[in-house]
Amino acid sequence: MSPHLPEPQPLVALVDALKALPGVGVRTARRMAYHLLQHDPQAAQALSEALHQALTALLHCEQCNGFSETAVCVTCSNEQRDQSVLCVVETPADQNTIESTHNYRGLYYVLMGRVAPLEGLGAEQINLKRLVSRATSGQVEEVILATNFTAEGDTTAHYLGEILRQKGLKVTRIARGVPAGSEIEYVDAGTVAWALMERKAT
Ligand SMILES: [Zn+2]
Repeated sequence: MSPHLPEPQPLVALVDALKALPGVGVRTARRMAYHLLQHDPQAAQALSEALHQALTALLHCEQCNGFSETAVCVTCSNEQRDQSVLCVVETPADQNTIESTHNYRGLYYVLMGRVAPLEGLGAEQINLKRLVSRATSGQVEEVILATNFTAEGDTTAHYLGEILRQKGLKVTRIARGVPAGSEIEYVDAGTVAWALMERKAT
């Protein structure tokens, strides 16, 4: 697709980079680029620096796979947390939602992905070996599958459940307190708390 006006290359590159964000098409990307460059160069600078900082300073926690500044993140290092329960979520945003219920004292594993056969995303999207080794590393007795209530989330839960059960772990799935198709990130904390409490063996 060639634009009607020849655009300067750095602008094209910025629009392309913004287009990589989920849910952002070319029109929105252009609007964002014009806004940042024309109306808010300070925010543009801050964004650029924050992005650089995040890319250089953040690692994946050795234990939960979430983002961390240290090899093992603050949550995993917290000895007050219940080491026998591991809650598996798709994204750090889902983990935040579950934390916001103040109802869960166990630990997490962040998939950073999901299995979605319809989108051509197979099991290789998930670092399964890492999850299995974390779940079988000794103290974990129960794995709670808190993937989204979407077709992909359910497929992921089913797939992980099979494998983890074969390893002798108790596997539960959070209850359906929310309509099918819901993403945990957008569900209110009270409902998520209920769904955790009412979790069912799979
Ligand atoms: Zn961690």
